[in-house]
Amino acid sequence: MESELKSVDFLQDIPVKELICSALEARKKAYAPYSGYMVGAAVLTNELRIYTGCNIENASYTPTICAERTAIAKAVSEGWRKLKAIAVVGSEQGDMVSQYAFPCGVCRQVIREFAGEQFIVIVAKSESDYKIYRLCELLPESFGPENLKSERKL
Ligand SMILES: [Zn+2]
Repeated sequence: MESELKSVDFLQDIPVKELICSALEARKKAYAPYSGYMVGAAVLTNELRIYTGCNIENASYTPTICAERTAIAKAVSEGWRKLKAIAVVGSEQGDMVSQYAFPCGVCRQVIREFAGEQFIVIVAKSESDYKIYRLCELLPESFGPENLKSERKL
């Protein structure tokens, strides 16, 4: 699947390595004193702008926010609501990213709000070691804004 996706046209305008590099940089700013699990994310808007985020934990736990949602909140709050791709890097503390970190269920649903099913999710250990998925693979049969007939165009 990975090699198939890399060869198709819709990936041509997605700067995969730049997104991963941005996510790795963002991961350095992670605030994760409780779990020690540091995550960085970089989201690409349809206009090819990149917004980054890190996970931000909280002593009361529930207010913790994931890196993906931090990045998306930054993009949307700057006026960019159509998203094209996201790169995610996460691992225990330290410079080495030793595993692929997939978006949690909450983040998958938040991505869905601003993305079509062809949205690209990149999970990476490094700029040369990564996997690529479509959102529809990670969140099949999803519920999104178009399911609400009375969706308001705000
Ligand atoms: Zn999450």
